[in-house]
Amino acid sequence: MFRLLLQKAVDMIWENVEWKQEIVEDSYIIRFSGKDYKKKLESTIKCLEIQGKKFVVYEDAKRKSCVIRVFYVATRLVPDFPRDRDFKRALRNELLQFWRNRTAYASHYVDSAIRTAYWILQSWKENYLDGRFKKRKPKIKKLFARIKNSLFSWNGKILRLTVIPRERYLVFDLSNTWFIERTEGWKLGEIILKENELILMFSKEKEEIPSRGIIAWDSNKYSLDGFGDIGYVKIDIKQLYTIHITYHNIRRKLQQLLRKTPKTARKLLKKYNERERNRVKDFINKITTQISKKFGEYVHCFEKLQKQGMFDWSKKHNRDISVINWRTIKQKLEYKVIKMREINPKYSTKTCSRCGSRNTTIKNGEVICRDCGLRIDRQLNASINLFLRAKKLKPNPKVWKKIVFPKLRMCPVGVGVNGVKPNEIPPMNPEGDEGNETQVPEQSFAIKINYN
Ligand SMILES: [Zn+2]
Repeated sequence: MFRLLLQKAVDMIWENVEWKQEIVEDSYIIRFSGKDYKKKLESTIKCLEIQGKKFVVYEDAKRKSCVIRVFYVATRLVPDFPRDRDFKRALRNELLQFWRNRTAYASHYVDSAIRTAYWILQSWKENYLDGRFKKRKPKIKKLFARIKNSLFSWNGKILRLTVIPRERYLVFDLSNTWFIERTEGWKLGEIILKENELILMFSKEKEEIPSRGIIAWDSNKYSLDGFGDIGYVKIDIKQLYTIHITYHNIRRKLQQLLRKTPKTARKLLKKYNERERNRVKDFINKITTQISKKFGEYVHCFEKLQKQGMFDWSKKHNRDISVINWRTIKQKLEYKVIKMREINPKYSTKTCSRCGSRNTTIKNGEVICRDCGLRIDRQLNASINLFLRAKKLKPNPKVWKKIVFPKLRMCPVGVGVNGVKPNEIPPMNPEGDEGNETQVPEQSFAIKINYN
């Protein structure tokens, strides 16, 4: 019976799915190494050029190896399940009627069926988006129900499931089972009832999941710059700024209208404010989803937000906007990545990430160190400094050579709302002044970007 109910719930949601066309940007990597890697590289490049693909080549002549990151764009249909209140109410009412006409079981099972149906469809969607499932409605073959804690009571020994309220119960005495000692003090969160087994989900505090490394982020007006165990990542957030500017201008015009037709103007102001908020929210949602998809298993380190007062009033408005955006991005990410940490950002822009000197000048977006001669993009410099702080390391040439330099040679990635895209390492002289004499081997840093 429950299976019928569940299938009906799935059917009803399925009938109301909105299929949206979505453009996906992604990339894959091809690696070559060995003696004849150059030959292989050349023929692959030719192939890619014929196909008109966008790609970036990273060549390491010393190690006779290279990596090509190929970018592609695809369109697909993405299901959007109806989740609004009206739909859910209608769904629940119809299922309740169906359930009551046939059984005397608790109506809570209807809620359980709805939750289970969404859960099934969501996991179907993930499989579908990964290409494992076809665009076909999922069929319920095995019986299972997720049971909320309002339908059972648990005292650490005896589990009582409600079948018909105040009438029929299923009682399980679990006091002699093997897990009873091990789960002492744990919370019984949810029960999954299967045809011939019962799955109890106990939970304790969040377990520590091993991370794949650290990424430290420097926030800027137009971009988030990350540096860490993944290399250099740049996230384009220019669009956030464009949204704010657009609505700022609209508001200015409406302010003039406010004298003539205050009622309409106020109405419009409200409408545009809401629209701005929604567009910002939507953008931040998309961008944080992409970050979690690509880097969810990394520990993300952020600069601790500073109190205001450092900026004069004309700059304050701009600063406020980016601080608010930044805070929202952090909040959203908190749910989507395994761990976040805060780092003190003091002097992270001004300090030379190679020798640690603060004797620097910042000119045209570049930090130039007067002590060791390093010239480096200011955002990249700041994110390297934050990364070193997260690792509890002080910047010095040895650390730079051993830890920073190899990461600069990894494939840099850019992230947009639809996926990853090519990114370049800004020009620099990684060896500082010493490099002027020895000359950095050009190829090991060569980055070729093909924008066909
Ligand atoms: Zn320096």
